[in-house]
Amino acid sequence: MSALTTCPYCGVGCGVKVSVAEQPENGFSSLTGDDSHPANFGRLCVKGSNLKDTLVHEDRLLTPRVDGQDVSWQEATDYIAERIQRVVEQHGPDAFAFYLSGQILTEDYYVANKLAKGFIGTANVDTNSRLCMASAVVGYKRAFGSDTVPCNYEDLEKCDLLIMVGSNAAWTHPILFQRIAAAKAKRPKMKVVVIDPRKTATCDIADLHLAIRPGSDAAIFNFLLAESERRFVTNGEYIKQHTNGFDATLASAQRSAPNAKTVSVHCGVSEEDLERLATWWATTDKTVSFYSQGVNQSSSGVDKCNAIINCHLATGRIGQEGMGPFSITGQPNAMGGREVGGLANQLAAHMDFATPNAIELVQRFWQAPNMAQENGLKAIDMFQAVEQGKIKVLWIMSTNPMVSLPDTEQVRRALEKCELVIVSDCKQSTDTTAYADVLLPALPWSEKDGTVTNSERRISRQRGLLPARGEAKADWWAICQVAGAMGYQSAFSYRSVHDIFREHAALSGFENHGKRDFDISLFSNISEQAYQDLLPIQWPVTKESPNGTARMFTDGRFFTADRKANFIPIDVKEPQIAPDEDWPFVLNTGRVRDQWHTMTRTGDAAILSRHIDQPYVEIHPQDAAALSIADHQLVRLTSLYGEAVLRAKLSDQVLPKNVFVPIHWTRQFASQSVVSSLIPQIVDALSGQPESKHAVVNLQPVENI
Ligand code: SF4
Repeated sequence: MSALTTCPYCGVGCGVKVSVAEQPENGFSSLTGDDSHPANFGRLCVKGSNLKDTLVHEDRLLTPRVDGQDVSWQEATDYIAERIQRVVEQHGPDAFAFYLSGQILTEDYYVANKLAKGFIGTANVDTNSRLCMASAVVGYKRAFGSDTVPCNYEDLEKCDLLIMVGSNAAWTHPILFQRIAAAKAKRPKMKVVVIDPRKTATCDIADLHLAIRPGSDAAIFNFLLAESERRFVTNGEYIKQHTNGFDATLASAQRSAPNAKTVSVHCGVSEEDLERLATWWATTDKTVSFYSQGVNQSSSGVDKCNAIINCHLATGRIGQEGMGPFSITGQPNAMGGREVGGLANQLAAHMDFATPNAIELVQRFWQAPNMAQENGLKAIDMFQAVEQGKIKVLWIMSTNPMVSLPDTEQVRRALEKCELVIVSDCKQSTDTTAYADVLLPALPWSEKDGTVTNSERRISRQRGLLPARGEAKADWWAICQVAGAMGYQSAFSYRSVHDIFREHAALSGFENHGKRDFDISLFSNISEQAYQDLLPIQWPVTKESPNGTARMFTDGRFFTADRKANFIPIDVKEPQIAPDEDWPFVLNTGRVRDQWHTMTRTGDAAILSRHIDQPYVEIHPQDAAALSIADHQLVRLTSLYGEAVLRAKLSDQVLPKNVFVPIHWTRQFASQSVVSSLIPQIVDALSGQPESKHAVVNLQPVENI
């Protein structure tokens, strides 16, 4: 019999149809795309279609372990509870932290957030989603007063101009890219512009590619804003009725991007191409600006997001079919984490600590004895606090920070210093589990149950269709066991994910009165069966919108105090570190088509290594010639923070003096290939998102060392 679930990789959130084998321990007998799922309508990319090969059999963590010894769950959770309590008594609640992941389900996130922020009393709850979309969140909040993605995937097909900035969707969000490519093939008048220093596979469908100087994106959008005014396409009525702060923002854009010539010099692209972009922008109402990590992973990522949003507000191109600024999340449940407060600067249900009365409201709802009162530490600050000895118990869930966080040497020092490192994972030997004092066996994708939310606000069920192996348990269950052992049994007495989902839904509507964007209160009494059968649906889901909400801000009302959106004046900023004589190359990082994150799953499927089978550094032939580097030769990359040895791939897809390295390979797959070890812990001051797209390095052919 077939069943429906959701792909656990990227933020597209494709529906998957599987049949469980006659002997369930043999996995799935078939796996295809779900024709009925509105994200993918039956399509799957190569990662999704090979999910069967990545069900975790090898290296599975099957029992809890404390200090290397197998123990029972009771022993493990009692031990954790006792250590947390002792540390909190001696050093206060902020000596504890959760470091979570966009791979865990919304229900897991909800319970972790509740335990930390309401019962332990710390807001030290952060996530690897900090590396993926934190700048987009802050950009939306500054503009709209809420973390609201206005658009949906259909808008990508219905627009006449699609500006893709900082995204190689062809490889990172392949099904969305396929939908865009199919729409463009059907509607030749649709134009696609790609703004990216690299000439990626996404450029295959581009009518115009602007290979901008790395980090210069904000100038392009300030230019479009200034040009909108010059070409009389700003929407005065919309600006007056629905926004604040236009004049100062326009003045700032006109100062930093006065004309095509200035912007051309700043961004390193031709005046003709800028004029072409401005003409298309000025003459095309149905425009979507699609952006992802290339924008977010920057020390001025929030400003870049607002530079994009400013252009849409100025022209009133938001809240209508085929229009809007649209950030795309990297992970399958980055959005779900945002809904429950899974970032250290959020409280819960799209309320922040600074939201008036929110702390008291959530405390009342949770009946919480120890409410955190202020923001906790974001990912980079969290690991620095661990190294400084301020955080003494760190619980890492479903992520591999020893490879994924910048400056992995700092992460190693932090994990070595930490008094108690707890790692929940389904594998026993990742780069991070090596530093765990306590290992908790978690459920992989095919065994865990709950919900995820994709990039277009669509909540989908992920279903636990295979029996749990060994002693593996759901993350929410493990957290509840610890909470119970700490004396909080009644607040964590959930019997199932259904119980948690109902409570999460109820909190979203608790004394809400339309004040918050995220509201799924219609589900607060959902039956067990209806939860099991839940079809994909876009939030908000309320009495007024029982079938979900395809598009936000259709009435021009936002979630600020006066219901008007904010323009944000943007000063164009440079990346924080510039290349110099010692470190002459700009290092950009990203993903390849067939791998996912640190390859803990995709590395198991041999077929996924056929496309690209080893780590590499992409170098412009001109630079390679100057350094006597041949194609395929080993090259040592060094920075102030570490080094990596990678095979050279000569390519004019990168600009001269720029190199590109994919993020996936870990010490386990190729011992000296961890690109994060080269990247400094520089972050956007507002979002805390690391500048992973702009480090500086030196290169040497290995033979010459
Ligand atoms: Fe999975 Fe993303 Fe591929 Fe869809 S596009 S099948 S969600 S990896």
